[in-house]
Amino acid sequence: MQTPQLTITGLLLLLAVSATAQTPAFNYTLSMDEPSSHRFHVVFHCAGLGGPAVDLKMPAWMPGYYQLLDYAKNVQNFRAVGEKGKELGWEKTSPNTWRVENPAGPGAASLGTQRAGITVSYDVLAAKAFVAQPWLDSTRAYVAPAGVFFYVDGYIHQPVTVEVKPWPGWNKAAAGLAPKPAGHAPKAGLPGIAAGHAPKAGLPEIATGLEPVAGRNNVYRAQDFDILFDSPMLIGNLEDLKPFTVRGVPHYFSAYRPGQFDGDSLMNDLKKIVQQGVDLIGDLPYTHYTFLAIGPGRGGIEHLNSSTIGFSGEALNKAGERQRTLCFIAHEYFHHFNVKRIRPIALGPFDYDRENRTNMLWVSEGLTVYYEYMLVRRAGLMSGQDLLQHFQSDIAAYENKTGHLYQSLAQSSYETWSDGPFGRTGDTVNKTISYYQKGPAVGLLLDMAIRHSTGNKKSLDDVMRAVYRIYYKQKGRGFTDAEFRSACETVAGVDLSELFDYVYTVHEPDYAKYLAYGGLGIDVTDKTWKIYPLQEVDELQQKIRRDWMKE
Ligand SMILES: [Zn+2]
Repeated sequence: MQTPQLTITGLLLLLAVSATAQTPAFNYTLSMDEPSSHRFHVVFHCAGLGGPAVDLKMPAWMPGYYQLLDYAKNVQNFRAVGEKGKELGWEKTSPNTWRVENPAGPGAASLGTQRAGITVSYDVLAAKAFVAQPWLDSTRAYVAPAGVFFYVDGYIHQPVTVEVKPWPGWNKAAAGLAPKPAGHAPKAGLPGIAAGHAPKAGLPEIATGLEPVAGRNNVYRAQDFDILFDSPMLIGNLEDLKPFTVRGVPHYFSAYRPGQFDGDSLMNDLKKIVQQGVDLIGDLPYTHYTFLAIGPGRGGIEHLNSSTIGFSGEALNKAGERQRTLCFIAHEYFHHFNVKRIRPIALGPFDYDRENRTNMLWVSEGLTVYYEYMLVRRAGLMSGQDLLQHFQSDIAAYENKTGHLYQSLAQSSYETWSDGPFGRTGDTVNKTISYYQKGPAVGLLLDMAIRHSTGNKKSLDDVMRAVYRIYYKQKGRGFTDAEFRSACETVAGVDLSELFDYVYTVHEPDYAKYLAYGGLGIDVTDKTWKIYPLQEVDELQQKIRRDWMKE
């Protein structure tokens, strides 16, 4: 069969058309002109999509917070228009799916898939001040992206841009403030850097882990919708602490009303913690990192290159609360390794439509609690005695309640979507436990088992490094339950059936046996669960204890 002759112009035209048809473009504009209404206004332009209809989906949950939050219910005043403002038909086809007519573009019939662009607009009610929910008022905007932006079904791996139009009132508020010195002007798109050492009331600012688009003011790009949903924004007259670098990579801290405290001292401590985390895994996989402190309140959510934290600087002025705050920030920070990159197979790629259940939150959350203690201890910001105290408190918290007789660690992970993040409360007989408590305790026993079987040549750190290297770096995926266990047994060089029974059954852990490997004793009978250094220890016990406690 003969190939039809094409003129050069015709060929170029066809190439251009096919490029248009195959290159979807997604651009958001986020504005907040009436912050007192608690409503963001969102305009979403989609172009280059095939098919007679487009499904826009609002996530049902946010990775990092394992509860269905039904963000779709906050979407109001939804409207869709085509070119020249022609109103387009749409319908809800599920509680979180808006199906919008995809209008035929000029010449569409003869060109197959080419369609005109669609522009949808909607408001998002953001009236709940919580780390997993968007918030807007005249003091600040917190964009929890899974609760603000749709993804386009079938196009989740496509890039998307967001133009932010901050409330103009923040500029007026900033007009009365002294300008920042030129040498400390915010880099394009990166959080502003205050010159001073203490927190400074700031210029209007957008703090986010998203990458700025060069040459465009307040426009950010996400390489896909997963990155968009992983990148919260804090917007307003923020206060910035002096950034630090680890391995040449900048770490920022931008805060809404953080209160009175020594910002330099906090950043010095955080630098030590970050350094310990990076040394542990032996890699630093981002080009900048931002702590977004959203104000007083509980909770934090981890991301690939940022974390959102409830924060009150005043807590840092009291020793006990300071240590708790440092542990909490260390926890959210270490999550960028453990759960964002080192992850169970169920936790990414995410299904934003439904619960993503896994038995492995004892690893993702429990071992992150384990390492928050270890990083703060290794950074020299907690005593060895305090380290023991943390584990003792965690063990007492579940052993002294009935839940540990009914629910295994794996079950507490799987059921968190129904039980809540800390287990159920209010039962006549509580039948649940929290993986935030039993997880670090089993982590401690596991670490001791590995150190014992290897003559302290290996530890749980080696397991974390191995799963990071094998599953994140080499295979680019999460691990199964069996693969995680196998990684532990490979490092330990022995069978760990008894330990994994403590994960998958309600068998009582033999705390005394495993802690003794590290030269530690525990008061099991009196229910205080007090952990203490044993008096008489052999050489290996002493070596493990010294290395583990850093004493
Ligand atoms: Zn966590």
